[in-house]
Amino acid sequence: MTTRKASQRCILVSNDDGIFAPGLLALATAMREFGRVIVIGPEENQSANGHRKTLTKPLRVTPVQIGENIEAYSTDGAPADCIAIALIGLLGVRVDLVVSGINRGANLGQDLTYSGTVAAAFEGTIHGKPSIAFSLDSRSLEADYSAAAQVAKRVAALVLEHGLPPMTLLNVNIPYLPYDQIKGIQITRQGTRIYHDELVTRLDPEGRPYYWIGGKAPSGDVSAEGTDIWAVHQGYVSITPVHLDMTAYPMIEQLKSWKF
Ligand code: MN
Repeated sequence: MTTRKASQRCILVSNDDGIFAPGLLALATAMREFGRVIVIGPEENQSANGHRKTLTKPLRVTPVQIGENIEAYSTDGAPADCIAIALIGLLGVRVDLVVSGINRGANLGQDLTYSGTVAAAFEGTIHGKPSIAFSLDSRSLEADYSAAAQVAKRVAALVLEHGLPPMTLLNVNIPYLPYDQIKGIQITRQGTRIYHDELVTRLDPEGRPYYWIGGKAPSGDVSAEGTDIWAVHQGYVSITPVHLDMTAYPMIEQLKSWKF
């Protein structure tokens, strides 16, 4: 539990949309009231890059200007690398809170396994820091992050007050609505995404095929009450507590009965 004053606290901010994404600036700015803010983000968009750890090449860190009086660095690593190198010695300061986002697009249901935004928060959790992933349910390049930033302040304040249990992060998804039209906050479980991926095949100049994962944006089961997908669809902020222990407990006894 963090009881330190704002003047002593340090908030580490990252994302997966890239260091110059507007959602990252909105989140970093929102966190300033809670303490010293340090931003370290990937130099390029790393969306859907998951929880990657870069071990086969060096990582470069470059100071960058993303907003007035915001200490920021970019790296050529993944979102989780940003958090890892910051926490294992790059910064040389004690970090009280790790926040990731605000992602351009929701991270709901099985998206968590792809999400670099959530992976950065996972990394913070692995290093024992209270960590929160924030995502806005809009993929627009012109999206307004101000309402989501307000929500982020509220959630961060409560996490700083209460702390989080070990190996547990909060995955926060915010509907794309003006602040006064957001219906409230729902504590949720993961819902079921429905993906519409299609294999797009094209030919290179030499006539060899190459492939894109294309298709429509994912939808989901919006009818399952209590899920993240339901809450955001209804106009609520969704907060899902997520545990890093991915064991399927009901299967343990069942597997024991198999004749291995
Ligand atoms: Mn992203």
